[in-house]
Amino acid sequence: MTLPEGVRRREFDGGEELATRGEPAYGEPVVDGWRRWDPHRSKLGATLELGLDTGLSGGDRVLYLGAANGTTVSHVADFAGPTYAVEFAPRPTRDLLSVAEARENLFPLLKDARKPETYAHVVESGLDAVVQDVATRGQADVALANRQFLREDGRFVGAVKARSEDVTADPGDVFDDVLDALREGYEVLATGRLEPYHDDHLAVVATPR
Ligand code: SAM
Repeated sequence: MTLPEGVRRREFDGGEELATRGEPAYGEPVVDGWRRWDPHRSKLGATLELGLDTGLSGGDRVLYLGAANGTTVSHVADFAGPTYAVEFAPRPTRDLLSVAEARENLFPLLKDARKPETYAHVVESGLDAVVQDVATRGQADVALANRQFLREDGRFVGAVKARSEDVTADPGDVFDDVLDALREGYEVLATGRLEPYHDDHLAVVATPR
């Protein structure tokens, strides 16, 4: 499995679990400064746990879309470089702000990821990775709109939630449609279903084309 530098397997309660080193953020177990990264609570955690090659290597400059209260992005900021965290709901953003207080490389932005022009003046371009977990309709459009921030061979690492696009359709059909739409601006490098950690979610790794 290819893990970014700064993400390790550590022993927690008798089992080996993913972990990053940093300030605790949400009551997660910590052993010797290593914070357990639970794949059930994080699509990116599940993506790494399932062994997908994300291209994240550690120290990456990251734009994270759909940060919510900061559970996953707190781990990302532990192993990455500058990490811009976009979330449009004010309530989770309050928690995100306190997660960011303990991390000087984490920059929360109360913005709509469908409107990158509202944060393009703050977020640097030529980023190594866009990580996306927005779970709303139009997930491919959000990915395409934020492609502009990536360097030429950067990585899009996203989780697509089938039910956010169409609650009644077969998830496999939804994923095919989302991947077709993504290919307007990306080459898809790898995909993987996130079961058993997250039902009807597809992890996608892609690069701009
Ligand atoms: N990534 C988070 C984690 O693992 O800790 C969980 C994210 S949750 C599944 C999806 C989040 O995306 C919600 O907090 C929602 O408010 C946010 N979101 C949805 N559409 C968005 C948009 N257009 N712009 C910014 N945030 C958005």
